[in-house]
Amino acid sequence: MVCTKCGQVIDDQDAYCRFCGNFLKDNGQLPWYYQSWSLYLGIIFIGPFMIPLIYKNPALSQRKKGILNTIIIVYTCILLVLPALAMNYVYKEMYKQILDTGCY
Ligand SMILES: [Zn+2]
Repeated sequence: MVCTKCGQVIDDQDAYCRFCGNFLKDNGQLPWYYQSWSLYLGIIFIGPFMIPLIYKNPALSQRKKGILNTIIIVYTCILLVLPALAMNYVYKEMYKQILDTGCY
């Protein structure tokens, strides 16, 4: 078999071209875990665990992979920092109330 993208000769049973990474399934359909709906659901629900799948996804350009991984990292940082800030605020308010009432 010959890769449709780079023209190199590759094994018939290969799913990807070993020279350029082109996806070679003859039905032209990506597996479910590379389709865009599972990509976006994965980013929302499992966040950073999607990074390896994004890197291996043959349908995404290098630039799009970088953008998606940056979004995932920023999104994860926000999800980690926001609860910490909220708890910090709650504890400060509780401490202030305890001091105000004089019951400590
Ligand atoms: Zn190729």
